[in-house]
Amino acid sequence: MKKDALGKNLKYERKNVWKEINDKEKKAIFDYAEEYKKFLDEGKTERESVECAVKLAKKQGYTEKISKEKDKLIFVNKGKAIALVYRGKKSITEGFRVVGAHVDSPRLDLKANPLYEDEDLALLKTHYYGGIKKYHWLNRPLAIHGVVCLKGGKTVKISIGEDQNDPVFLISDILPHLSYNVQNDKKITEAIPAEKLNIICGSIPVLKEEKEAVKLNILKILNEKYGIIEEDFMSAELELVPTYKARDVGFDRSLIAAYGHDDRICAYTAITALFALKSKPEYTSIAILFDKEEIGSEGNTGAQTRWLLEFIGDLIKLEGKEPNEYVTTKLFAKSSCLSGDVSAGINPDYKEVHERNNAPKIGYGITLVKFTGSRGKGGSNDANAEFVSSVRDTFNKNNVRWQVGELGKVDEGGGGTIAKFMSKYGIETIDCGTPVLGMHSPYELASKADLYETFKAYLAFFSEK
Ligand code: MN
Ligand code: MN
Repeated sequence: MKKDALGKNLKYERKNVWKEINDKEKKAIFDYAEEYKKFLDEGKTERESVECAVKLAKKQGYTEKISKEKDKLIFVNKGKAIALVYRGKKSITEGFRVVGAHVDSPRLDLKANPLYEDEDLALLKTHYYGGIKKYHWLNRPLAIHGVVCLKGGKTVKISIGEDQNDPVFLISDILPHLSYNVQNDKKITEAIPAEKLNIICGSIPVLKEEKEAVKLNILKILNEKYGIIEEDFMSAELELVPTYKARDVGFDRSLIAAYGHDDRICAYTAITALFALKSKPEYTSIAILFDKEEIGSEGNTGAQTRWLLEFIGDLIKLEGKEPNEYVTTKLFAKSSCLSGDVSAGINPDYKEVHERNNAPKIGYGITLVKFTGSRGKGGSNDANAEFVSSVRDTFNKNNVRWQVGELGKVDEGGGGTIAKFMSKYGIETIDCGTPVLGMHSPYELASKADLYETFKAYLAFFSEK
């Protein structure tokens, strides 16, 4: 070994993607980002993202009509989670490859009985969903997305605030002149109480009505437009999200700011990697997008549901086999999963929360995260070294730019993903996603280079023989 080659051969060195690529690759990165931005703007909630994924999948020949003649299948779980399946050359009983991500994002949900009037303003009570910093949500334009299930079962879809001509909604913060006592000396976590996250939604009273005349006017408008009565709010899922569209950031346009990179960036790269497969993969390949990750993967649309067993069972039956517990457990043990979720890139203003050797950098490619959790790896899937090695080899062979990462310094904080729920089935699983800045803020930041490397990584994983 030559002396100057020693370091090159022995040392691990992560590389800035932009320094490694040629003009053709740069164009591919920028073109891909344009399509991703459309996906972000079209789907701001779990339901909308699932609808988008179905639409894109159908264009690629995927179908919801499950039959043994079809190789490209769509399974939707209650409109909030989706699995796209490309059946492989090998039997499903030989195992599958899955990239799992989630399409729910932190937001404000309306309470079950949200509408009230105070000081001649109509307001809506909210209950935040997922890990938010409450001050992020004050005085910014918000849109209402979701469904209202009316008396009798009819469902009305609602999306107000995205169109330039739509009204928007907002929470009004107190002015700095008067915040001395109510905010200024308080801890940041206590300065904005959750019960003050109330949305202003109107101010015109119904004439002649004396009590709650503004509230009544809002109900009148909702009834005329959607047929809603107040009790219908109780069977509704209405979510307040930022109205912002995904935008390029920087003089060089190398970054994208958007609501919900976490985790639509891994969701989009997972499904488009599946679409990019030129022929039948060796192993059945699955992109699965869950709901409820931000609240612990709970409920029957989150990663803890048994839905995976249901559609894997369907796939076994398509081959004329019995999906009993033994067969299913066996095939899970032969399967592997990239748990696609965003990682926390080093923020130059807060370097002190990261341990630099193990923190992902923006622009350095997809992050491989062996373990997540908090404190002593509590609540973590700690990927098996053998599996990490095989993923690493796959990435290196396919010229995927990747880096290692963990979520901040030890004992600095922590968090989890769907990884531990996937690995419970016996599936080899590792967290593997795109680094972002400002995670869980209403306008997160990601690099176009890292977006594209994530796509390449998932494609390489699906393509492996
Ligand atoms: Mn996430
Ligand atoms: Mn998250």
